[in-house]
Amino acid sequence: MSITAGVLPAADRRRIAALADRSDDALGVRLLRGTPTNEARSEEHLTDLSRRATSFGAALADRASGAPAAITVVERDGGLAQGGLLARYGSREHRVELFTDTVDFCEHLVDELGWRSWFPAGSVQAAAVEHERAHHLVTVDRSRDLRAALGLEVLRIGRFRRFGTVAGADEVAAHAFAARSVRLGRSPLLLTAAAQAALATRTGARRAPTTREN
Ligand SMILES: [Zn+2]
Repeated sequence: MSITAGVLPAADRRRIAALADRSDDALGVRLLRGTPTNEARSEEHLTDLSRRATSFGAALADRASGAPAAITVVERDGGLAQGGLLARYGSREHRVELFTDTVDFCEHLVDELGWRSWFPAGSVQAAAVEHERAHHLVTVDRSRDLRAALGLEVLRIGRFRRFGTVAGADEVAAHAFAARSVRLGRSPLLLTAAAQAALATRTGARRAPTTREN
């Protein structure tokens, strides 16, 4: 599919660029609110959950810094045809599929929106891989830590406590992990939201440039 950035109508470009007025926290809340099972949670609770997931992801990136990736990255085409799929982690073989057409689309979009100081050249691919590495680390042995960090206690018997999962929190954490690992000026949540809006403008597509786990 030949979708390239660089031809956004001015009104669309201004509208999409205005996403940057929202804080990374607000974009995390937006992601959580759009994830099924979170509809009934209050704005305050979602804000708290977003911040907790962000702190968890950033701290995990600090601990994982310099460690071998332990994942295989395979480059593919065809991400735009799948609604703007950027990368996908397969937990069975610890493999990341990286969709280079979506990477290129996002890189061009960064230029078009004037966001290069936040997302340096080449950082889209680096951030996508780091995002998936976060999913890998959480999947392998940090899922309980993430639940504990979110603090949603579902059971307490004496000193024993069990924490529940929060849909979408792993996504917020993975974006924070990537932002910290790649030293981005803003969370990839912002670029993902912009790419979603840009693709919707061109194709009428409803699905976001995103990452996917299976
Ligand atoms: Zn993800």
